[in-house]
Amino acid sequence: MLEKREFYINGTWVAPATANDFDVIDPSNEEVCAVISLGGQSDTDAAVAAAKAAFAGWSGLPKEERLGYVEKIFEIYNERAEDMAKAISLEMGAPIDMAKAQQVTSGSYHIKNFMRSFSSFEFDRMLSDRAPNDRILYEPVGVCALITPWNWPMNQVTLKVIPALLTGNTMVLKPSEVAPLSSYLFAEIVDAAGVPAGVFNLVNGDGLGVGTQLSGHPDVDMVSFTGSTRAGIAISKNAADSVKRVHLELGGKGANLIFADADEKAVKRGALQCFNNTGQSCNAPTRMLVQSGIYDQAVETAKQVAEATKVAPSNEEGRHIGPAVSEIQFNKIQDLIQKGIDEGARLVAGGTGRPEGLNRGYFVRPTVFADVNNEMTIAKEEIFGPVLSIIPFESEEEAVKIANDTPYGLTNYVQSQDGDRLRRVAREMRSGMVEMNGQPRGAGAPFGGYKQSGSGREGGIWGLEDFLEVKSVSGWPEE
Ligand code: NAD
Repeated sequence: MLEKREFYINGTWVAPATANDFDVIDPSNEEVCAVISLGGQSDTDAAVAAAKAAFAGWSGLPKEERLGYVEKIFEIYNERAEDMAKAISLEMGAPIDMAKAQQVTSGSYHIKNFMRSFSSFEFDRMLSDRAPNDRILYEPVGVCALITPWNWPMNQVTLKVIPALLTGNTMVLKPSEVAPLSSYLFAEIVDAAGVPAGVFNLVNGDGLGVGTQLSGHPDVDMVSFTGSTRAGIAISKNAADSVKRVHLELGGKGANLIFADADEKAVKRGALQCFNNTGQSCNAPTRMLVQSGIYDQAVETAKQVAEATKVAPSNEEGRHIGPAVSEIQFNKIQDLIQKGIDEGARLVAGGTGRPEGLNRGYFVRPTVFADVNNEMTIAKEEIFGPVLSIIPFESEEEAVKIANDTPYGLTNYVQSQDGDRLRRVAREMRSGMVEMNGQPRGAGAPFGGYKQSGSGREGGIWGLEDFLEVKSVSGWPEE
């Protein structure tokens, strides 16, 4: 069993002020795989004080020097990719090959894209030709609290730590207590890259402890949070007293609009994407809206995809999905599947209970419901499991209405061969992202949501701007 009780504060690994052990569970076998500590107020205070003390030096460094540290992080991150894949696979159950191919690489992808965006970002610019002596200066916000979830651990950590570092902020990272091992390794990488003491700090803890201490801390200037809408609300309220900047990346209930003229792989692609990472992605296309005419065929295809989706322990090589992350999530998914049945949706694949042959571990059956309507609980709530809800529609207008009829607004998907329709529907979606015909969004594209899916954008220049204050200066002398 791994012992990872220390925190990374002011450039060294330190024991928690008060011992408070917490077991990390391997979701594939329900056994304790590691022990960490949950921090308390004095650990939080020490980390925030270190970040505050380091701010002047770090923010004052020339841009190129900060970039140099991030280049070093990128190099070491890639060298340790194998260890990182193992850590992620163990802590949150991603199948090992998927952890290598998707989880770890999402981190390197973001680091690389941020370095590019940073190199061309103008931190110091003229307001306009008509106001040549007005200067716009982009400056770091200060001490940032970075609070991350368990589902795509390095995706989220790099989306926060890297832009914060590049733009001259200092920080305290609090990863999910459910999946803290990858962040522990990430702190080792930052340390090995020689980032000056106090710039990056890591304190493990839970939401009610370190999470709340950070969001209310008088010396924290900004909170960047990814996780549930519930926690996002609590953080916003707690941060309000000190008027912190709060950036939120929250849940989603993505609609995938499949029109009758969609390409023939659209349904299969949508179902696979829904089940990927065991359905534990905020941007998963969990509501599949299918136009009449291709509806019966779509239900049949989705059923086949679910039945062909293998479920297996995370350390098993090959293509399959792993367990849900925890007992809490497992029970939540089971309850929602039961609710789908009780409320009258037609179960066409999967259902409650574990897949055949798996008696231990938080394994869930890939599940498809047909004849769902948007009033049912399974169409409204984020399930965060491999559960697809298929909703029929007749007209484009109806599909748009159903897609937007949710408190969330993260990613919606559209499948059609009609260019005019694609442009029209993309504009009508009340969501931060629209992905069409299976084309992934490009490098440096902003990630974030409308409505209760959050505020702010991560990635690319938008991800840098989120960590910057804008200073407007008049009377700027000509050089
Ligand atoms: P969670 O909200 O329970 O926890 C996320 C993090 O917040 C953890 O580090 C946790 O310790 C901390 N936390 C919890 N309550 C807190 C509080 N009151 N104050 C401060 N910190 C608190 O979420 P989770 O179960 O880890 O992750 C799943 C959720 O994250 C899903 O709803 C999912 O949609 C969302 N998510 C969103 C995005 C996005 O970018 N929009 C990405 C991934 C996950």
